[in-house]
Amino acid sequence: MNTARIAATAFTLTLTAAATVVAASNDAHALGPVYSGTGWKINAPGITHIDTAPWQIAFHDTTSRSKLTPYLNKTAAELSSYLGVKITVTTRIVPITRGTCVTGHTISYRYMSKPDPNYPNRSFTGACGNALHAADGAYVYINSDYWLKTRNFSEPVRMNVIWHESAHAIGLGHPATCPTNSAGLRPLMCADTYKDLRTRRYSPYEATAFKQLVKNRLYTVTAVGER
Ligand SMILES: [Zn+2]
Repeated sequence: MNTARIAATAFTLTLTAAATVVAASNDAHALGPVYSGTGWKINAPGITHIDTAPWQIAFHDTTSRSKLTPYLNKTAAELSSYLGVKITVTTRIVPITRGTCVTGHTISYRYMSKPDPNYPNRSFTGACGNALHAADGAYVYINSDYWLKTRNFSEPVRMNVIWHESAHAIGLGHPATCPTNSAGLRPLMCADTYKDLRTRRYSPYEATAFKQLVKNRLYTVTAVGER
């Protein structure tokens, strides 16, 4: 670390402290970035927040597009309402490869059978943050076996998986704690097997996490100084 970097870091911390004083009067918890709480978790340090740039949803191929667009129109609208950023379901084809980041505020979905051969029932997502640790893109593999008549999956379970993977795509992880709230719901992000999902829409736990992704925007500069 050189002298210039140290100076920049000190300046950033000063700004953060000043912002905290202002915020303290109406939000007792606004004491810096927060990455987890009861029933929710943000995938820091790779992703600490979401910035204001709009997002695009794209597809690996035309089959993925025709199968998943009807679901993702709903998922995108719900995510957009929590995050306050525009999320457009496009017709773009963006081929994806497992292990290679998708960037540019794009999430590309692939609908395919057994995307992870070692775990044939799994779907999965790889999400990437940019240099400022803002969520910046993801590849999402949705296991098409869930639509096979012989598997007897219900439509709500299929929706659960899409909603769960889409939350991973913008930076949520699996929480350390998985309580049941007064409505009898466990956090959607607690499910680590396809059978263990309880809500097909985001619960108040995910809603809290999404709002925190937005709040953490205030601390973007600090995050750079810490690297
Ligand atoms: Zn998951």
